[in-house]
Amino acid sequence: MKDYAELVSILENAGHPPFRASQVLHDVFKKGIADYSQMINLPQGLRDVLSEKVPVLSIEEKHVSITPDGSVRKILFRCKKDGKKIESVLMRFRDGRRTVCVSSQVGCAVKCVFCATGKMGFKRSLSYEEIADQVLYFVLDSEEEITNVVFMGMGEPFNNYENVLRACRHLNDSRGMNLGARNITLSTAGVIPGILQLIPEDLQVNLAISLHAPNQELRQELVPIAKKYPLIELMDALKEYTDKTHRRISYEYVMLAGVNDSLSLAHELGKLLKGRLCHVNLIPYNFTDKTKFRRSRDQKVEEFKRIVETYRVPVTVRVSLGQSIDAACGQLAGRK
Ligand code: SF4
Repeated sequence: MKDYAELVSILENAGHPPFRASQVLHDVFKKGIADYSQMINLPQGLRDVLSEKVPVLSIEEKHVSITPDGSVRKILFRCKKDGKKIESVLMRFRDGRRTVCVSSQVGCAVKCVFCATGKMGFKRSLSYEEIADQVLYFVLDSEEEITNVVFMGMGEPFNNYENVLRACRHLNDSRGMNLGARNITLSTAGVIPGILQLIPEDLQVNLAISLHAPNQELRQELVPIAKKYPLIELMDALKEYTDKTHRRISYEYVMLAGVNDSLSLAHELGKLLKGRLCHVNLIPYNFTDKTKFRRSRDQKVEEFKRIVETYRVPVTVRVSLGQSIDAACGQLAGRK
C-alpha cells in the first residue's frame, strides 16, 4: 500500500481531496479491508481509481510454512514488479508479542559467512512499499494485532536506507498502522554511515548491531563488511549514537561452536561493551545446509553469558523460533 504522501498525490491527480487518503489508510490498516469495493464510505469514482492505480499489496504470497506448534509462520513472497522472491516471518511469542521479521533487500551483499541469505548474493533493494507490505500482509491475514517489526530478514537495511526509513514512517503513521517507532528494530551488520544518519532522525526506532565477534580479526572473517567498517570505528560511531540519542543498543552475537564461543572471547566481549548503554543477545546458531557451522552447546552458551555479565553487561540468550521451517535468523534464502 502506498504511503500517505504518494496516495494524496495519486488522489489529487484524479480530482479527489487529500483527506480521502487518510480514510483509505485507516480502512486498510485498521479495519483490515483489502477490497476497495467494500470501502463503502468512499465515492464509487474514487474506488474505481484505487482499483485501477493502487494495488493493496505489491507482493503476493507464494508459499506458507508453519511450525507444528503454530508459533511461527514463514511466507515466501513474489514481488509483483519483477517476480523476485523474498521471505518474511511472523513470530508469536508466549508473552503476547506478535513480531514480523521483514526483508529489506532481495539477497544481501554483506555475505556473512554463516548466513543463508548471504550465499544468495545481492539481487536488488526493495521499495518502501514492498517492505511495509510484508507487515500489511499479516495485518490483513490475521485477527491478531502485530505488535513489533524487526528488520532481521533478508538484506542489510542500511544498504537501503531511504526505503527502509520511509517504510518505518509509513508503518508508524497514525493515519494508518500507527505502530510505535519503539516497536521497530533496525538491525545492521555495522554500516557506519547508516548509523550516523539515523542519529538525527525524528523517529525513535531501536538499533541492533550484528556484532558476532569482539575483535577486528575474527569479525572481519565472519562479517566481511568489517573490513570496510573496522570495529574500532564502529564502536566510536555507536558511542556517538548512544551519547546523542540516549537509546540502548542491542548487540547480536550468534554462537558458533569452536569459532566465536571461547571463554576468552567472552572476556573480550565484556571488556568491549563494559560501561556502554547496551544489551547483548546471544543467539544459538540455526543450522542451514548452506554453511559448515554448528551451534554451540547450551552449557557453553550459559558459561559465555555468565562471563560477559561479570562486566555488568546485560545478556539474554535469545529463544530461537522457527528452526524447523528454516525461518530462524540467518536461514532465509528465498526458497520453500
Ligand atoms: S546476516 Fe544479515 S547482513 Fe549478514 S549476509 Fe545475512 S542478511 Fe546480510
